[in-house]
Amino acid sequence: MTASPASAATAGAGRFAPSPTGDLHVGNLRTAVLAWLFARSSGRGFLLRVEDLDPERSRTEAAQLRDLTAVGLSWDAPPVRQSERTELYLAAIDQLAGAGRVYECFCTRSEIADAPRAPHAPPGAYPGTCRNLTEEERARRRRDRPAALRLRADVEQYTVKDLLHGAFTGPVDDMVLLRNDGVPPYNLAVVIDDAAQGIDQVVRGGDLLTSAPRQAYLASLLGLPAVEYAHVPLVLNGAGRRLAKRDGAITLTALAGIGMDSDDVRNLILASLNLPAGTLENALAAFSPALLPRGSWVFDSPG
Ligand code: GLU
Repeated sequence: MTASPASAATAGAGRFAPSPTGDLHVGNLRTAVLAWLFARSSGRGFLLRVEDLDPERSRTEAAQLRDLTAVGLSWDAPPVRQSERTELYLAAIDQLAGAGRVYECFCTRSEIADAPRAPHAPPGAYPGTCRNLTEEERARRRRDRPAALRLRADVEQYTVKDLLHGAFTGPVDDMVLLRNDGVPPYNLAVVIDDAAQGIDQVVRGGDLLTSAPRQAYLASLLGLPAVEYAHVPLVLNGAGRRLAKRDGAITLTALAGIGMDSDDVRNLILASLNLPAGTLENALAAFSPALLPRGSWVFDSPG
């Protein structure tokens, strides 16, 4: 199915949303292929979003799009760039502020790390230091340091539905909505963009499963529809650790250097999913989420 952006909004869409901070490796490409397979096999559109909120580190968009195309992926509309959408994120913060859900936070990282916290608080959760400052106190603190904005959350956990993990409950805290340098954080942008792009299925690496509850909670506060999640297994190196640059030839460019072209890499990815070699359309005919291997794929680079 080739959906136009308009029909993607009505039929729903899946997406791949890489951060352009380096070349994609076989693990990222496998996740992208899976996102496409999940979307297409459920009659959805498929969209791409460039998560370039960090302009300093966002330099590899062109190479990423080239590599995604090289393994056979295509998307239904021009990619959306987060760096061009700040107004949407600020409007969402205004909406939350209007509902009394936003407060200024002056804490440094080390103040947060050192603050006393309730015994049951999940590790890393914001301890609430600035939640109830008086107006005088805020005025005084603003002179020393620009404020970040935080969400006044009224739950400590939230449950999402994941196609591979079932019901997953994870922590929610007073997450940052705007950093004190004015940059909106990923956890806010992802929620706004998925809704704005008509995305109702989020397939991504399993490392983001624990972020899903806070994102889904934020969506609920903004009155945005809940999405269906599938957090897919990460790819590991031969030592059982998450694939990283030092693991040798793991990008398309590096693999080409040792004689594996993009068709070979796609076939390797498809084999890891128990799917037949060939085009992605061919693999789509054999794909079923229920038959997906549940374990991590170990990629021991030949180079
Ligand atoms: N941009 C994130 C990453 O590359 C993925 C975000 C998402 O899929 O929600 O890790």
